[in-house]
Amino acid sequence: MRLTAWVPKLEGMGKRDVIPVNEPVLGEKELDYVREAVETGWISSEGRFIGEFERAFAAYCGRRHGVAVCNGSAALEVATAAINLQPGDEVILPTFTIIACAMAVVERGAIPVLVDSEPETWNMDVRQIADRITPRTRAIMPVHIYGHPADIEVILDLARTHGLSVIEDAAEVHGAEYKGRRCGSFGDVSTFSFYANKIITTGEGGMLLTDDEALAERCRLHRNLCFQGERRFVHQELGRNFRMTNLQAAVGAAQMERIDQAIAKKRWMGQRYTEHLRDTPGVHLPIERPWAKHVYWVYGVVLDDSVPFDATEFARRLAERGVQTRPFFWPMHEQPVFRQMGLFRAERYPVAERLARRGLYLPSGMALTESQLDRVSTAVRDILSAA
Ligand SMILES: *Cc1c(COP(=O)(O)O)cnc(C)c1O
Repeated sequence: MRLTAWVPKLEGMGKRDVIPVNEPVLGEKELDYVREAVETGWISSEGRFIGEFERAFAAYCGRRHGVAVCNGSAALEVATAAINLQPGDEVILPTFTIIACAMAVVERGAIPVLVDSEPETWNMDVRQIADRITPRTRAIMPVHIYGHPADIEVILDLARTHGLSVIEDAAEVHGAEYKGRRCGSFGDVSTFSFYANKIITTGEGGMLLTDDEALAERCRLHRNLCFQGERRFVHQELGRNFRMTNLQAAVGAAQMERIDQAIAKKRWMGQRYTEHLRDTPGVHLPIERPWAKHVYWVYGVVLDDSVPFDATEFARRLAERGVQTRPFFWPMHEQPVFRQMGLFRAERYPVAERLARRGLYLPSGMALTESQLDRVSTAVRDILSAA
């Protein structure tokens, strides 16, 4: 059974002709487990699937504790609360990421401090981190981008040397590896999303992973309004209701049974796109570092400067051919909302700025078929050869 996450809205074209940028695959197992949750009445944040999903996913990533939450953005907010990030503290993170990362910092009155991307993997350029460390730095928040791990060892070394926490945002890299170790196993606390376009989905959902029992307990506290054990309605801290439901966890538990297939599908997709597009002029493709296992959460491409149009125009031309795409992230230092807050004034990060203007991602969903992938590749080749 397939559900369409994003219904393409392209004029003059029947829905069947359009290749959606993402389509998840859900099966009978998901239905069975959700049916069980409904039939037994366990529909809120208690019920067997929550603990089972937490244990299965934590074990998959080699972690001791998993704390399920309602989405990946909430996971980041719980993470900054769990490490007790204070107003005025600084957190170093890439400018090229989703706004949820900076949001989880700003929301605590702390200050996001940015670094640029490196041009080949689009991950944070770890060579720029040391210069950004000050006496106020509390944490580094690496974000593995689009399926390829960040150079995490360098980040962990810097964190150790300077006594910083690491919040690892692994929302785009379920199953990816750095030197044979799974992403999500590196942070003091690591976070995931299970949104409908992620490699494992619960519709909406997220999780925090950690090996530290005390930190796990703080995560559980902060996803649950900071209710206390003994005197439940007496609060020492403010927390949110970020709980995951048993209905969502039922879907997640079923998805976990097929995670290896999901990752194999993504890697097949990445490798086949690369084979098709390798010799196409004017486009830079994802690479895989020797130390990395890339899971191609999405297949991003970046237009070379020699191409006389930008990603917006490229997306328009692809849409004409029935290929739906998504633009790359818009960098944090160029966000109007942060500029208005007085953040990042006059800061420039040229690699991220270029990625934002020249990059987009092609249809990459779990339901993508071989013939769809081939059609997308042909469209890309035709448009760029004509340019
Ligand atoms: C998807 C994503 C998130 C946010 O997850 P939601 O579940 O959509 O809130 C956070 N960080 C990264 C890197 C993501 O890709």
